[in-house]
Amino acid sequence: MPSLETQTLDNLGLPGLEARLKENLGCLLYPGKDWVPPRAGVTDIVIIGGGMCGMVAWLSLTTGGMRNIRVLDQAPKGREGPWLTYARMETLRSPKTLTGPAFGHGTLTFQAWYRAQFGSEAWEALDKIPRPMWMEYLQWYRETLEIPIENGVSVDQVAPEGNLLRLSVSGVEAETILCRKLIFATGRDGTGGPNIPGFVKDLPRDLWAHSADEIDFAALRNKRVAVIGVGASAVDNAAEALEHGAAEVRHLVRRKEMPTINKMMGIGSFGFTAGFAALPEEWRWRFMQYSFATQTPPPHGSTLRVSRHDNAYFHFDKETIRIEQRDTGAEIFFADGTSYCADFVILGTGFVIDPMARTEFGETAGNILLWQDVYTPPKGEENADLGRFPFLNPDFTFREKQPGTAPWLSHVYCFNYGASASLGKISGDIPGISEGAAWLAREVAAKLYAEDVEAHWQGMLDYDTPELVGHEWEPTALGQDSPEGKVA
Ligand SMILES: Cc1cc2nc3c(=O)[nH]c(=O)nc-3n(C[C@H](O)[C@H](O)[C@H](O)COP(=O)(O)OP(=O)(O)OC[C@H]3O[C@@H](n4cnc5c(N)ncnc54)[C@H](O)[C@@H]3O)c2cc1C
Repeated sequence: MPSLETQTLDNLGLPGLEARLKENLGCLLYPGKDWVPPRAGVTDIVIIGGGMCGMVAWLSLTTGGMRNIRVLDQAPKGREGPWLTYARMETLRSPKTLTGPAFGHGTLTFQAWYRAQFGSEAWEALDKIPRPMWMEYLQWYRETLEIPIENGVSVDQVAPEGNLLRLSVSGVEAETILCRKLIFATGRDGTGGPNIPGFVKDLPRDLWAHSADEIDFAALRNKRVAVIGVGASAVDNAAEALEHGAAEVRHLVRRKEMPTINKMMGIGSFGFTAGFAALPEEWRWRFMQYSFATQTPPPHGSTLRVSRHDNAYFHFDKETIRIEQRDTGAEIFFADGTSYCADFVILGTGFVIDPMARTEFGETAGNILLWQDVYTPPKGEENADLGRFPFLNPDFTFREKQPGTAPWLSHVYCFNYGASASLGKISGDIPGISEGAAWLAREVAAKLYAEDVEAHWQGMLDYDTPELVGHEWEPTALGQDSPEGKVA
């Protein structure tokens, strides 16, 4: 009998952890029984995006026995999502104990992965998860579960074909894919794009960048850098510029003061996850609008990473109204009549949700039902950004503005941040994604089953494997059931 000590995860090593995970999955009879009737030349489900959400969606669907799935990602292998591309924070904001995409498997958590390699002392000593390490963990997750992500494949456009969807893709030989269900696990900007304010419209591109762009920070050495905004990405970009030797970095912030309380994180609970989507529109709007209005503060560590530099500044109540090119750089004008000249401007303005910004939907993007089409908030709760979120069905699918004009949208699932106004925080940030994935798989399964109900009914009629073969009992006439007449 091995001692308890040798049974812990600590220093088990990744091969040992993988063996445990596989044993665990085996006990749960993973993957689930294959039940979707095959259709020649048709993929049952395509997932766009091989990031965290796409991967946990795949795990959830395969757990439910849906196996004919393709996962496509335009990014090269190992470069999916923001973690090694434009995310610039040193550590994740979320606590290290989050279970994220583990989908109920303790051995699939970040904690297990970390302790198996470094032991529990190191685990106790770890403060926050270093950003590149989170990506290393996600890569391990992918390899261990053998998720067949096809990298370098971009979904360019979706169009209906009968009851199916025809995807135009680039990066693979066959240029189109026919599928039944399509999941947009396309990320933080996956139902929109970077928020580019109009004031940079006429500014030459070498004078500004959005925080999600590739930025040559070395070129900012000895330069005056203006960062518009003070959210998480704004401060991380400011810190990068400072660490690369910028002469000065100034946060130019429209708000009058720094947001300090992370409201959404504070109220996070299973109740909120399970209950949000069932609330009436007015309540869902109220929660989201309040969270938008109060704003999420930049993380503690990221803020210190900036403020420890003497040449870093936070200027509040500085609403940028226009920027003009000068011989000396870019002159930024504020609503209060003042101005400041920078050599380079970084937009820490975040992302917008706006289906019109996604090319994948073609012209149908304009036909996607939005919150602003169905809900008029009371005075004081107006919010144009929130109004552009898609108003989804409870099963994550998009809806059409004009019923009957694009019914195919009901086969397209929004499994990204864009779903949050309708369904809550279950398809973007790390904490709620396993719950979201479980919910998504159930809804996809229910729809696939309903569409094939005749085949399933025929399967019931055709099923003829006996459980009893005839020798297990003997009928007797009532009154003649003497002990001798019974089956031995
Ligand atoms: C800078 C930054 C820091 C964050 N930090 C945290 C944090 O600390 N804690 C937290 O809980 N959350 C954080 N988040 C939020 C969230 O966890 C991340 O956005 C996370 O990446 C979401 O995972 P995802 O799978 O939805 O999207 P992603 O990881 O972005 O994956 C989406 C994938 O879809 C692919 N894709 C998109 N469109 C197409 C297409 N047409 N064809 C093919 N492929 C396509 C992309 O290439 C990408 O790889 C952060 C977000 C950002 C942007």
